[in-house]
Amino acid sequence: MKESRLTTIARRGLAFPAETREQMRKTGIRCRPQLEIVYQQRANQWKLRGEESGGAVALLGHYVGFVDGQGKALSWLQRVQNFLPNGVHAVIIASELVRVEMFRFENTYDLLITKHWLDLKKGRRPELRSGILFLGRNGSLETELWGNDAAFRGGAMPHFLTRSGELGSPDSAWIDATLKVTEAVCCTGCRHNHLLEAATSANLLDLTEVPA
Ligand SMILES: [Zn+2]
Repeated sequence: MKESRLTTIARRGLAFPAETREQMRKTGIRCRPQLEIVYQQRANQWKLRGEESGGAVALLGHYVGFVDGQGKALSWLQRVQNFLPNGVHAVIIASELVRVEMFRFENTYDLLITKHWLDLKKGRRPELRSGILFLGRNGSLETELWGNDAAFRGGAMPHFLTRSGELGSPDSAWIDATLKVTEAVCCTGCRHNHLLEAATSANLLDLTEVPA
């Protein structure tokens, strides 16, 4: 039972009680951790599609962003600019992704870091595989990054305790992404890509590559 709950979280992202979901809906923050499997006709290959999205109001924040398997920044395929803040910021297409999702309610934070890849099957639609790299609940950070202490943004992250009361932090590879997503869930009226970066010519070439 417990295992299937973790499997669902790994695949779909953090799960919240109905009351929390209702609160989040009212704030207008639209965070979409769901990943899609897409097929590129010209390149004849299957890929994963994610949307970097979310933002914050003073009371709470919810954001999802993406990095590569080593925790390094990835480039977006397409930047999305909306009239309304705290929505979709950019689209990423890749063969494998590490998803970094954070939820903040006042000074309390949840963090989920998951790895996603495609299990390719000859002549068939591939299956999405997901694994949890870090799950921290009820982490705390007293600094009010969305208000008086905004100057500390980008240099502070919540600390998480294990069930036995010890400090449990994500592995060093994910610290940079955690700092960025902490900043994002404190970014009121967010209109930024906090994790994805602008495309470089090198990866634009990669996207248009067509097999011989
Ligand atoms: Zn922002």
